[in-house]
Amino acid sequence: MEKTFLMVKPDGVQRGLVAEIMGRFERRGFQLVAAKLLQVSQEQAERHYEEHHGKPFYDNLIKFITSGPVFAMVWEGDDIITLSRTMIGKTNAAEAQPGTIRGDFAASTRLNLIHGSDSPESAEREIANYFSPDELVVYTKTIQNWIYTG
Ligand code: UDP
Repeated sequence: MEKTFLMVKPDGVQRGLVAEIMGRFERRGFQLVAAKLLQVSQEQAERHYEEHHGKPFYDNLIKFITSGPVFAMVWEGDDIITLSRTMIGKTNAAEAQPGTIRGDFAASTRLNLIHGSDSPESAEREIANYFSPDELVVYTKTIQNWIYTG
């Protein structure tokens, strides 16, 4: 099973969309591995968005992601990185399709509600940036047989 790091950004927490967003991943059949509300530190933000350092939107992005609490999560499922990115929708607000989280709720390219890892390497790095290994809960849900193998 593949793991991914998903985070409801400060705008999503302020707008009361945590349950709506979590619900979509639950209903899709993914398994929750860890979750917590936290304030992103400057250091965590810089590590998280390292690849964007120097880009025109970088400073505002760091200000935004540290501007209020976020809801950080680890989820697992077959091919979850690709599937969750499809559910999240395009970064550019004008391209985010209705039916996706961003396409249904976001009107800005920066304030776009949710982050989702884009590769297994990013997922591993991002999970370690917010969670310690003992916070990841290992358990079995028998319903998984009805989602993947039936
Ligand atoms: N972002 C922005 N302006 C841009 C591009 C991106 O403010 O022109 C922000 C936006 O919040 C985005 C984050 O930077 O989610 C990271 O950008 P990335 O290209 O990694 O997009 P994502 O993977 O989140 O869709």
